[in-house]
Amino acid sequence: MSDAISYQRCAPCGHVWYFVRSFCPRCGAREPSTSRASGDGIVHAVTIVDRAPTPDMKALAPYTLVMVDADEGFRLMAHGAPGLSIGDRVAGSVIELAGRSIPYFKRA
Ligand SMILES: [Zn+2]
Repeated sequence: MSDAISYQRCAPCGHVWYFVRSFCPRCGAREPSTSRASGDGIVHAVTIVDRAPTPDMKALAPYTLVMVDADEGFRLMAHGAPGLSIGDRVAGSVIELAGRSIPYFKRA
């Protein structure tokens, strides 16, 4: 079961971002719109996590974290498939991992 990644956009200044907020982090305008992202993007950075920060993630270690530049213009931190490299085209969705809904990317 997976769901789409969503993002927010500020109408006055056009800024787009990932974390849900009640105002634009760039210009402070209220009531940004929330949209479903395509999930398509490019890997900006990759980190392999050997030591998980929480007990529930320990069972998954080592795992891959990626910074992805989404085609819609926002950047997000997400879990990624093993073996991803900087510059890879990826496709993302929201999955259930260790009881939480998190964005997850694999090679497109
Ligand atoms: Zn704005």
